[in-house]
Amino acid sequence: MSDKIFEHIETRAIHSGMNSTSRVKSIVPPVEVSTIFEHDEKGHLDGDYMYTRHNNPNRVALEHTIASLEKGKVAAAFSSGVAALSAVFQSAGKGSHILIPSDVYHGSRVILMEFADEWSIEYDHVDSSDLDAMESAIKPNTKLILIETPSNPKLIVTDVEKAVLVAKKHNITTCVDNTWPTPLNLNPIRFGADLVVHSTTKYLGGHSDLLGGVVVAAEETEQFDRIKKIQVVQGGVPSPRDCWLLSRSIRSFPYRMRGHNENAMEIAKVLDNHPNVETTFFPGLESHPNHEIAVSQMKGFGGMISFLVKGDAIDALKVVSSSQLISRATSLGGVESTWEHRASSEGEGSPTPPNLIRLSVGLEHIDDLKNDIIHALDSMN
Ligand code: PLP
Repeated sequence: MSDKIFEHIETRAIHSGMNSTSRVKSIVPPVEVSTIFEHDEKGHLDGDYMYTRHNNPNRVALEHTIASLEKGKVAAAFSSGVAALSAVFQSAGKGSHILIPSDVYHGSRVILMEFADEWSIEYDHVDSSDLDAMESAIKPNTKLILIETPSNPKLIVTDVEKAVLVAKKHNITTCVDNTWPTPLNLNPIRFGADLVVHSTTKYLGGHSDLLGGVVVAAEETEQFDRIKKIQVVQGGVPSPRDCWLLSRSIRSFPYRMRGHNENAMEIAKVLDNHPNVETTFFPGLESHPNHEIAVSQMKGFGGMISFLVKGDAIDALKVVSSSQLISRATSLGGVESTWEHRASSEGEGSPTPPNLIRLSVGLEHIDDLKNDIIHALDSMN
């Protein structure tokens, strides 16, 4: 089939990875529950299925689809986003140094806090939106730079193309955690990134009912082979059922994501104009310090917003408890809106401001969301 037919993400989301293994030519591939596959008479042949931890048709299909959405060559699916991130960090190798953002998903920080020593890896946090600071933080043994843009939870925007140029000058791998923007809004590989990581638990899954992660590589490098080895030998793989469910969800992902983009843009304006809100962090607002960079590299601004209420932790907790529609819950990317007092989710030692609320804008009707949020904010008065 010509590449032209697969040009757009909506088409790739529906059709890539749909080569059915079913003998009855089903349009939707079946879940291949068998953990074992019969060997050839000559013994196990390279490339044949053998054991589901090594490979499984549902996982192969899923990896193919996500590589295609991200415009990468290959992908490795994991049982969670942190399993995918851990594989990327480990693949940097013993004795290496890693740079991770100062504002970053708390779990990425925790992986390195807990395991960097055991893996003989050093790391530093740096504001990756400040390219001079990033370059100054590079050491002779720096092997990997992790970027989040927009970052979690403060939605700091990094110029991916420029950051990649700095990394390439020093022969360093760039990995972008693309969980928040998603491939509908940002394709880091297009800007030269080597690796893209996702928590597929979020927008790609989209219904708060599955856990997963994935690493996509622009090329099949030695580092990617190492990531594959970690996947298969350490065994943090997703089940065939979860791969199947995720592939199913991805088919409607581009349209869901447009809805998240649209609703979040409207809600960000409401928050920004509310007298009880001190600051709204959302790259779609013209007041965002890196709005222009966001416009230049993103197709939409995503569904995540953080904001500071004029007050303290008690006020923020009051707001998140005063909604009739939005659940108090961590995580993000579901069809339902959720919000949380982020510092208490991160726990002791959290660098997140005590008055910060992190909101995952769902797909409810925009007027219902607006009314609910205004009502919750007014509870502070
Ligand atoms: N990356 C980002 C940006 C996240 O927000 C999260 C979870 O919130 C993860 C990775 C980890 O994903 P998981 O919970 O699937 O392990």
